[in-house]
Amino acid sequence: MTKDNPGFNTLAIHAGAQPDPTTGARATPIYQTTSFVFNDTDHAAALFGLQQFGNIYTRIMNPTQAVLEERLAALEGGTAAVAVASGHAAQLLVFHTMMSPGDNFVAANRLYGGSVNQFGHAFKSFDWQVRWADPADPASFEAKIDRRTKAIFIESLANPGGTFVDIAAIAEVARKHDLPLIVDNTMATPYLLRPLEHGADIVVHSLTKFIGGHGNSMGGVIVDGGTFDWSKSGKYPMLSEPRPEYAGVVLHQTFGNIAFAIAARVLGLRDFGPAISPFNAFMLATGSETLPLRMQRHCDNALAVAKWLKTNDKVSWVNYAGLEDDPNHALQQRYSPKGAGAVFTFGLKGGYEAGKRFVEGLEMFSHLANIGDTRSLVIHPASTTHRQLTPEQQVAAGAGPDVVRLSVGIEDVSDIIADLEQSLAKL
Ligand SMILES: *Cc1c(COP(=O)(O)O)cnc(C)c1O
Repeated sequence: MTKDNPGFNTLAIHAGAQPDPTTGARATPIYQTTSFVFNDTDHAAALFGLQQFGNIYTRIMNPTQAVLEERLAALEGGTAAVAVASGHAAQLLVFHTMMSPGDNFVAANRLYGGSVNQFGHAFKSFDWQVRWADPADPASFEAKIDRRTKAIFIESLANPGGTFVDIAAIAEVARKHDLPLIVDNTMATPYLLRPLEHGADIVVHSLTKFIGGHGNSMGGVIVDGGTFDWSKSGKYPMLSEPRPEYAGVVLHQTFGNIAFAIAARVLGLRDFGPAISPFNAFMLATGSETLPLRMQRHCDNALAVAKWLKTNDKVSWVNYAGLEDDPNHALQQRYSPKGAGAVFTFGLKGGYEAGKRFVEGLEMFSHLANIGDTRSLVIHPASTTHRQLTPEQQVAAGAGPDVVRLSVGIEDVSDIIADLEQSLAKL
């Protein structure tokens, strides 16, 4: 690229990609191969010893995956990235790189439901403990930190409520205690908000959602901000101590500001194996090219829908940070002035039964458990994702009986509103 600092739209299309050097193919080829031929035995030895970067085997890296990784690192303003099979795989590898058995981390108590399960249940088998804190109260994170705390985890824009978090204030707590701040930026995407600019150290994504954007491919990514000193406290031995797997290499010493990404790849992805397929990497990288256009339309449509819902007499409340009278509006203006995202909740006066009937009455909206598709999506959490909880627990999780969650798509907004209107009219 000719300019030193290309703009976001340019990076979304060009970062990480160039015409194929052997065939001239302009679109990124799908390198559908498991393995790569070595030049000679010295070359093979250098690759295995981490003395030279290069492709060995697609579980560890692959040229199509590499385009997606460089693209996301550029869009987030990080130093390096690791693409994996899903958002959950990204989270697993991030924590595996930092944690030892008996360690803990502090996480926001309002997160994507799958993350609540992963942290609260699955991570127990590694003897990693999660401690919950209130994302609206940075001091509540500090209160949970002890000697064995290794990280702080938040979502920039929390799923499902659609609330923005004061990242800089929580980053200050992390900095004070020499802990890395990990931010899940799935719902905002780097088009709206770049957590590394507000003090985050590691960014994770479910690429399955807005980055891929078309509801057709699973993927996740870890972006290394290159900002954290992994050697200072001695609490991150995977990065600061000699690794027996690699003849005593000290990863932080050797790889500096990309050491975390290297460690997640060669000690996490290599050994646990949640590699992304080259085909999915291709689909997600293709999706990322139109991220700025799609995301702006998602936000514009969502704001129009939220404003319209507020005027409907079957609707009791609308929770959307883009609305001027929303309690979260000031944080949205500060962190994400281009828009408040596509996902939000609203309440139906008719409660549980109305929620079920409303969802069934929609024609263009798809009733499913996903967000970030081009298509408009809807779910009634109390009768689906949160049905195993008691009514009290549902309310605490923002999934009370009257709650409907929308992921507003990029269709014509008049058609989106018409579909909502006809289903509300039937209640
Ligand atoms: C979907 C999602 C995840 C999990 O990602 P998968 O790709 O489904 O594994 C994590 N965080 C957020 C905010 C999500 O929306």
